[in-house]
Amino acid sequence: MIHGKCDLLNPDSPCMANGVCTEGYPKQFTEATAETFDGYPMYRRRDNANHVTINGNVVDNRWIVPYNLYLTKKYNVHINVEICSLVKSIKYIFKYVYKGHDCAKVVFENNG
Ligand SMILES: [Zn+2]
Repeated sequence: MIHGKCDLLNPDSPCMANGVCTEGYPKQFTEATAETFDGYPMYRRRDNANHVTINGNVVDNRWIVPYNLYLTKKYNVHINVEICSLVKSIKYIFKYVYKGHDCAKVVFENNG
């Protein structure tokens, strides 16, 4: 999976805020996976010159979104998968589990 055009290639992309991609793309090249200060991993992204050209834009390892092939095939959707290791990150995940389903309250009134 490849993160859509943003940054200098498309400053009007929905993921952009204040001139920066809110998802952190393009990521930095790194030789080894490491944990960041917020508990999320900074995955290895080697600068090995592998790239593809999509619609005239060069895409390399910095634009690849972490994913799980099993989940992607099973649910036929794009699922971004990242390891989290801090309590802060785990609280964030469980917040959505216990948040409940999406719902709306609708009232019909007869004014006639
Ligand atoms: Zn972006």
